[in-house]
Amino acid sequence: MMTKEFATRIQATSQTGIEDLIPDPDDVTISFAGGLPDEHLFPQAELATSFQRVLLKGTDNPLQYHNAKGYLPLRTYLQQMMAAEGTTVTLEQILLTQGAQQGLDLVAKLLLNKHDKVAIEAPTYIGGLAAFSAYEPDYLEIPMQADGLDVDLLEQLLTTNTIKFLYTVPNFQNPTGFVMSLAKRKKLIALAKKYHFIILEDDPYRHLRFAGEDLPALQALDNSGHVISLGSFSKILAPGLRLGWLVATPDLLTEIRLLKDGSDLETPAIIQQAVTDYLVHNDFQAHWQKLQQDYREHRDWMSAALTKYLPSGYQFSHPEGGFFLWLMGPNNVNLEHLLREKIAPENHVLFVPSTNLYARKNVCNCARLSYAGATHEQIDRGIQLICAALTPELEF
Ligand code: PMP
Repeated sequence: MMTKEFATRIQATSQTGIEDLIPDPDDVTISFAGGLPDEHLFPQAELATSFQRVLLKGTDNPLQYHNAKGYLPLRTYLQQMMAAEGTTVTLEQILLTQGAQQGLDLVAKLLLNKHDKVAIEAPTYIGGLAAFSAYEPDYLEIPMQADGLDVDLLEQLLTTNTIKFLYTVPNFQNPTGFVMSLAKRKKLIALAKKYHFIILEDDPYRHLRFAGEDLPALQALDNSGHVISLGSFSKILAPGLRLGWLVATPDLLTEIRLLKDGSDLETPAIIQQAVTDYLVHNDFQAHWQKLQQDYREHRDWMSAALTKYLPSGYQFSHPEGGFFLWLMGPNNVNLEHLLREKIAPENHVLFVPSTNLYARKNVCNCARLSYAGATHEQIDRGIQLICAALTPELEF
């Protein structure tokens, strides 16, 4: 087929840069690019036992078709988990998805016509842009601040713009690591009520806080049905399971479920049942605590290396959870150029330059560094190599 025959959406989705995140292992020695969890922490043996138990002794027909809502015992588990965190929802409000990523696609599919407006954080999650762009919206970019997106600017823009939804990663944002303050969460909900838009709350890092106090989810603060929230087992169990969940009002959820029917019929029953079995037979809280401890150490190694090697003129965020740290360079630095021309080919180190994390691709002096998947030694060595390459750039 000739490319001119492709749907117009292909133009918007073909240049997201998402394919650069998982490097070819032959070319790269150290990668801070993809948001890959530390694979030493996957509970492989426990999951193997659960899969075996479900397949050999399960009574809920794990190899059969089921309905799209998802496995009832797993929805019940999630309902109780959310209740313990202050979010009260019914079982009819929970849908199991193939990762949070599917939730992003389904919500965009539900709400967006071509040229509808979506407000996004700037910078934002690259996979959010990839999912939404297929529906060809126009983006309103709201700059990120250390305590979350600039809600005052959003409020100003809402007086002259109608948006379908606002997309936010409120906890340990991908890519900055920033957390939205309680005051901003409340203000955002008030704005959603006043201007009638949905808040799409994408919260895969919520359980990976290793310092500071948990804040209530937007879903917990809202009593008016304006929030659709997404969760995921990818970062707290394993991304290969492709298992996440979506929470919305029953009306919205019914529509979303019909769209899911058309996409994939259902989230694999065997995965849902095996994960439920894992949750029943293991101490999941203790598992999180191990992850939190591990990622704190990774963050500390990266902060220490940056403090030691980073040339003047650069700053970096100090996240209290999650996977990512945000590097901010002087305005005249182009980190994408430096990565492609020097750091990747010569030093064999990878990170995500900021360019692809803005819809307008207009910010080139920042980068997302993931500390989650690399070893302590790789973090120290990789940061040293990056910083050595940054220094001459300051002379421009
Ligand atoms: N949202 C955010 C903010 C993410 O960082 C990721 C994974 N990198 C996803 C969604 C997708 O996660 P999942 O594996 O659950 O599809």
